[in-house]
Amino acid sequence: MKKEIQIKKEFKKKQFQLVRGMKDILPEEQKYWLHIEDLVRRLADKYSFQRIGMPIVENTELFKRSVGTATDIVEKEMYSFFDKGNENISLRPEFTAGIARAYIEHGMLNLPQPVKLYALGPCFRYDKPQAGRYRQFNQINFEIIGEADAICDAQVILVAYQLYQQINLQVVIQINSIGCPDCRPEYENVLKDYLKKYRSKLSEVSGKRLSKNPLRILDSKEKDDQEIVKDAPQQVDYLCEGCREHFIQVLEYLDELEIPYALNSKVVRGLDYYTRTTFEIWPVEGEDGRMVELGGGGRYDGLAELIGGRPTPAVGFASGVERLVSLIKERKAPVKEPESLDIFLAQLGIEARKRAITLFEELYEADIKVTEGLARRGLKAQLELANKLGVKYTLILGQKELIDGTIMIRDMEGGIQEVVDAKKVILEVKKRLEKARVNVNELNKVSAIGPT
Ligand code: AMP
Repeated sequence: MKKEIQIKKEFKKKQFQLVRGMKDILPEEQKYWLHIEDLVRRLADKYSFQRIGMPIVENTELFKRSVGTATDIVEKEMYSFFDKGNENISLRPEFTAGIARAYIEHGMLNLPQPVKLYALGPCFRYDKPQAGRYRQFNQINFEIIGEADAICDAQVILVAYQLYQQINLQVVIQINSIGCPDCRPEYENVLKDYLKKYRSKLSEVSGKRLSKNPLRILDSKEKDDQEIVKDAPQQVDYLCEGCREHFIQVLEYLDELEIPYALNSKVVRGLDYYTRTTFEIWPVEGEDGRMVELGGGGRYDGLAELIGGRPTPAVGFASGVERLVSLIKERKAPVKEPESLDIFLAQLGIEARKRAITLFEELYEADIKVTEGLARRGLKAQLELANKLGVKYTLILGQKELIDGTIMIRDMEGGIQEVVDAKKVILEVKKRLEKARVNVNELNKVSAIGPT
């Protein structure tokens, strides 16, 4: 009993904080998120991608089979647990597996192919929290499912490229082909033979990967590993005829679209489901010289079969939203600002407040950008808030105005106040706003012509 009281007392004192690796997205940051969501929606419309929403949880087995058991995500980073019905479920660490599951489950192969889908939302990985790396982060995903042609690879890369271009980020596509189940085994053997010569110098993780997942050693972040793989044999020299032809076509389309790319044999993406094209999006080096990968993707022709569907070719990409937001801020790329407000509605006294709540609705319905100080009491406090918000006019409704059937309009710039008929307030406000707009336009014209 004593202990319980003690715990209760401690909880009373405790100031809760974010769970490690999580992040709040505060109101002042929302403009970046809205801007990105807007761009994504417009790109999706332009290239006919339809939005899909999947649950955050899926069966753990889905990720084991698709992402692969010999990956960091499945080995170490999944939020997996048994629910109350004893089902083993996981918070999604990425979107593609869930999208492929939904495609199969809803019989989308009966729709005209390819099916183009996009998704936006949170993913979860129990990663080591560090700058730009969170345990809950958000991804944008674009997928083209049901078509093997290289034009789809190019279109997915084009969408990714345009997304970054439109936020003024210069990027280069790092591109590679990791072949298919026909030609990859031969390459893996050649690679293993090469790496075995350096076994003692490989990092511990890479040493373990040598037999199960040697491709992953190519994109190791360890310096010693990087030295070793610098001269490793490259998959592109071991592609079968079909994979080579496919890769050349993708590159030709990128040339046609004038998308800058660099062949990079170390881009292997690490997830089991990739085949043929793999790519990452890197910003052109920033002033600080850092290279952060903004997103990545590739072709995954074998995934549907791995999770119980028919053979279904597909290609897609994912981009992290947090990294985009921090780059937009860092590079001061322009984003759409929230719409400015025109009118502040101030009130004095209980009766005036009652009228103000309905007047607010009328102003809003009349398309006037209005905000209010309904929870504030004194006029001074309300005018201070109005000033802070930068509105052009404040409407003041007090006891006297209520009795007289009037309302006061205060010009916030000059402080001039005028009493108008309450019935005509919307008309009066619109007239003044229009006049202010004309004045601003005239001023802009004069400053464009310059002094005479
Ligand atoms: P991946 O599926 O690992 O290729 O991730 C695709 C993109 O998601 C990456 O390029 C990042 O932009 C983003 N991303 C992945 N993991 C994290 C994380 N832990 N925190 C923030 N962003 C992430």
